[in-house]
Amino acid sequence: MATKVTNWAGNITYAAEELHRPHSLDALRALVAAGTAVRVLGSGHSFNEIAEPGAHGALLSLDGLPAEIDVDTSARTVRVGGGVRYARLAETVHAHGLALANMASLPHISVAGSVATGTHGSGVGNGPLAAAVREVELVTADGSTEVIRRGEERFGGAVTALGALGVVTALTLDLEPAFEVEQYVYTELPLAGLDFEQVAGAAYSVSLFTDWRAPGFRQVWLKRRTDQPLADFPWATPATEKMHPVPGMPAVNCTEQFGVPGPWHERLPHFRAEFTPSSGEELQSEYLMARSDAPEALAALDRVRERVAPVLQICEVRTVAADEQWLSPAYGRDSVAVHFTWIADTTAVLPVVRVVEETLEPFDARPHWGKVFETPARYPRTGDFARLVRELDPAGKFSNAFVRRILEG
Ligand SMILES: Cc1cc2nc3c(=O)[nH]c(=O)nc-3n(C[C@H](O)[C@H](O)[C@H](O)COP(=O)(O)OP(=O)(O)OC[C@H]3O[C@@H](n4cnc5c(N)ncnc54)[C@H](O)[C@@H]3O)c2cc1C
Repeated sequence: MATKVTNWAGNITYAAEELHRPHSLDALRALVAAGTAVRVLGSGHSFNEIAEPGAHGALLSLDGLPAEIDVDTSARTVRVGGGVRYARLAETVHAHGLALANMASLPHISVAGSVATGTHGSGVGNGPLAAAVREVELVTADGSTEVIRRGEERFGGAVTALGALGVVTALTLDLEPAFEVEQYVYTELPLAGLDFEQVAGAAYSVSLFTDWRAPGFRQVWLKRRTDQPLADFPWATPATEKMHPVPGMPAVNCTEQFGVPGPWHERLPHFRAEFTPSSGEELQSEYLMARSDAPEALAALDRVRERVAPVLQICEVRTVAADEQWLSPAYGRDSVAVHFTWIADTTAVLPVVRVVEETLEPFDARPHWGKVFETPARYPRTGDFARLVRELDPAGKFSNAFVRRILEG
């Protein structure tokens, strides 16, 4: 009997019996043209059924295709294949003296899957990873190729597209000159009197971590570009040992700390490519709200922390600059992102997810598309996105139950 295909966390087993791995673009086109329901599985790091094609559908992996990474040093762009992961991309880009503006907490994830779900790192000036995309190459429902470029009206729906437009076979991304980053960890930042704007803007990328067992943050991670000024951080205490954000996990899994300068791709993620990221046994949820609401939203969460803490491993607070992808959780508003790494127990976690959603509802919180949530957000441009889906995929070959729920609002 075929082994069942699961996501990274193991909480989702896909109904599709088989993971197809075409070894050429032609084989991919043929699979797409022949299928009635088709979804791509990237690196499988999402925690919900976003990639599920259904029992009679085809689940495709692009791992068998050549891992194209073509850097254009004069244009400062890279064209990257649809199955490539950030770790490999970053190494190649860095070898050319160039950099991506930002990365998520881990480099293990695929580029196409990450930008499809609005994946982000942190930084008041850093948009989601999708903000770097300038061109999307798709194999659409009939097996033909469609290229959508920044500047076209429909580009707003083309990148953070939940896999609903077709198979992304390549993306072209903006690059910038390589830079170095120093990472500093602080401990015990009080919530009372927190000046969120000052703290979040204290470095290129800032993350606050709390277990909600007490008010305030157990750790603060600052990632400072060495080409930008070093700001004071008087609100918390410098760490005296290397730390992992999840209590009890080894710091060796994490990128270098104590201000040792290093290349962007070895500091911007929290977790090193050669180790298991995060705790490895977990579920995750995350909600984005207007950054100006951060103090009130954090105070509201503090009021329910006794409900949250028992099923929580760690909560991370980051910032994301506004972007223009219609379905991006950061669409149109500079955002605060509040992330929860839960214990790996869906039955225990779901009631608490509902508590968090009720608590954050007054702030018009938008859930991360790749994580556990109960109630999808309403987006001002969902109608435009639905039109784009109908234009490129009239029979709904790439729309699964997850996507239909979003489109039908
Ligand atoms: C340990 C851990 C840490 C994480 N840290 C962060 C973080 O720091 N920031 C953050 O924002 N998120 C984070 N995430 C969430 C993660 O980034 C998202 O779930 C993201 O989608 C992962 O990419 P993937 O390739 O694994 O996606 P998958 O789960 O494989 O797929 C996601 C969606 O993309 C579609 N897709 C994938 N590839 C293609 C393609 N080539 N063409 C068309 N559609 C495609 C799939 O069909 C699916 O709809 C984390 C997840 C884990 C497990």
